[in-house]
Amino acid sequence: VTIPSTELERLGVLGHGNGGTVYKVQDKCTSKIYALKVIHDGGDETTRRKVYKEIDILRKTDSPHVVRCYETYEKPWGEVAILMEYVDAGNLATLRRKKGTLSDPELADITRQILKGLSYLHGNKIIHLDIKPSNLLVNDKMQVKIADFGESMIMDRTSDLCNTYVGTCAYMSPERFDPNANGGNFNGFLADIWSLGVTLMELYVGHFPLLPAGKKPDWPSLMCAICFDDPPTLPPAASDELRNFLECCLQKDPSKRWSAFQLLEHPFLIKYTANDD
Ligand code: ATP
Ligand code: MG
Repeated sequence: VTIPSTELERLGVLGHGNGGTVYKVQDKCTSKIYALKVIHDGGDETTRRKVYKEIDILRKTDSPHVVRCYETYEKPWGEVAILMEYVDAGNLATLRRKKGTLSDPELADITRQILKGLSYLHGNKIIHLDIKPSNLLVNDKMQVKIADFGESMIMDRTSDLCNTYVGTCAYMSPERFDPNANGGNFNGFLADIWSLGVTLMELYVGHFPLLPAGKKPDWPSLMCAICFDDPPTLPPAASDELRNFLECCLQKDPSKRWSAFQLLEHPFLIKYTANDD
């Protein structure tokens, strides 16, 4: 079924991002609720290129852990919009602010779902490149879905990972600051794993973990922390399984970092394997 954009009633704003707004909308015909990401500024080339890439990738993906795309709209005046499944409980950044910190079993559940999404994407040669709490959506059943493919890449022979840029570098892996190190042998799949590690550590400790709590993440202190400091570690009270899991994600040398497929078998996740979906 196609849903004409004229049938969509805007109920409110779910989020703002670079060049776009995400609205909560309702299909007047069926009363179903969706999320509509609208890129208003048709003139900005970078934003347009990003949204077309996002559309291209969302059309190719089909996983319970990747946000679903139902329709795309293009207006003659340059507006582009994506109709997506509505994920009703916000993202992991808002969840963290609401809950404070997360326990091991909660974290294991979330982690397993993100890794299922990432292994699906990586298995299909898609690199996300912008994994961070605000791009991981949750619903009221605590199902986690990867969203925001504006920075993603599909790896083929022509893909050039050395020229990727993201709006925020806070979750970027050390090798992304110098992709030509290692003889240009930059593996984007493992860059996603570093970002996952920083994200999970943030959910556990309750603040962005590479800088002292409360410090504003400016570009120079972030770059220094990521490239020159030792990777962040957990406080002493953390469990050994979680500590080891995060060590596997936060290896500065990407060749020592575990893949999404390997991490799914890590003891931290095995320990809390329960009613799996
Ligand atoms: P940014 O540049 O800040 O990363 P963006 O413009 O790329 O943002 P998204 O990250 O896709 O946009 O969405 C921004 C916010 O809108 C998300 O953090 C989330 O809170 C909300 N949002 C996005 N998609 C959905 C959805 N399908 N259901 C519910 N909320 C959503
Ligand atoms: Mg985003």
